[in-house]
Amino acid sequence: MARKMSRTTSHPPPHDLTKKLLSWFAQAGRTALPWRDAPCGERDPYKVWLSEVMLQQTTCAAVIPYFEKFIAKWPDVKALAAAPSDDVMRAWAGLGYYARARNMLKCARLVAQERQGKFPVAPEDLQQLPGIGPYTAAAIAAIAHHGPCAPVDGNVIRVLTRLYAIPDIMPAGKAVVGEYASHMLPQGCSGDFAEALMDLGATVCKPKNPNCPACPWQSACRAHGAGVPTDYPKKAPKKAKPIRKGWAFWVERADGQVLLERRPDKGLLGGMTGFPTTEWQVDEITAEQAAALMPGEGDWIQVEKEVRHTFTHFHLELKILKCQLLGEGEKGLWCAPHNLHEQALPSVMKKVSALMI
Ligand code: SF4
Repeated sequence: MARKMSRTTSHPPPHDLTKKLLSWFAQAGRTALPWRDAPCGERDPYKVWLSEVMLQQTTCAAVIPYFEKFIAKWPDVKALAAAPSDDVMRAWAGLGYYARARNMLKCARLVAQERQGKFPVAPEDLQQLPGIGPYTAAAIAAIAHHGPCAPVDGNVIRVLTRLYAIPDIMPAGKAVVGEYASHMLPQGCSGDFAEALMDLGATVCKPKNPNCPACPWQSACRAHGAGVPTDYPKKAPKKAKPIRKGWAFWVERADGQVLLERRPDKGLLGGMTGFPTTEWQVDEITAEQAAALMPGEGDWIQVEKEVRHTFTHFHLELKILKCQLLGEGEKGLWCAPHNLHEQALPSVMKKVSALMI
């Protein structure tokens, strides 16, 4: 049920705020981003989709080189759909969240094979595709077609909870922000509105140091007026991330090549190539227990340094055991250390290889 917008009393009407935002966007919007190569409403849905998938939980600066590489290699969804999975995973390596890359490829193949390369227009149809949630669907619909919807991501939550001093705990209360945004939605240029909000959040209304004097909403902003912009959005207290521990195995055979393995499709780093490892668990695994898990004859030596890496839900402390095999070694994927950069290694495995080479 729609919430009454009583909190907007004595506030400028939403559409006045929208006008101010759009005129700020015309002056100060981030036009140089490579996926903004045409006005909203005329943009290639493939590029909008690709950029939005890459931007989930990553910054524009990190995404730009990846986006440019993908567009150069696979200029449309049919080209991406026809690419071997390993090539796509290799091009994605370093962006993290590999389940997203796998879903992205599934989505491309479905659009190419079952929809003649055309993305749906309506957000509810877009949401039927792999890896497209409510935010990405709304972003594609608004930016590619000026569909009447307002995507709500972290930036939008921050800006609007500050503007209206919304007390709800975020992101659980995201729907409340969506209601405020939908009251501000301009007719016929929802894509510009969406990008303007994203840009205001990314360049002015920053998490720690909002630049309120540069903000088109300074005079209307309740959090600024109360002198507490960074008190919003309200968040539940953070739970400390647990630490998991494990071992990675650097197995070298006589010709100097090292052993790699493809991880199971399901689970963390699913389908990615990496060095064999033990389970990653809260309880310590001793070097002896770890070495007993690896086949092959040779002496195991513990490497002095260890790798530390942070995933979304835990910190990882990864120790390394090194072994020079006496025999040929088992069948599997072997790679010369100087060729490891050609493998689609996820960041944590790149850290292992950087330590060992
Ligand atoms: S006035 Fe400050 S806190 Fe309010 S929306 Fe603008 S930048 Fe954010």
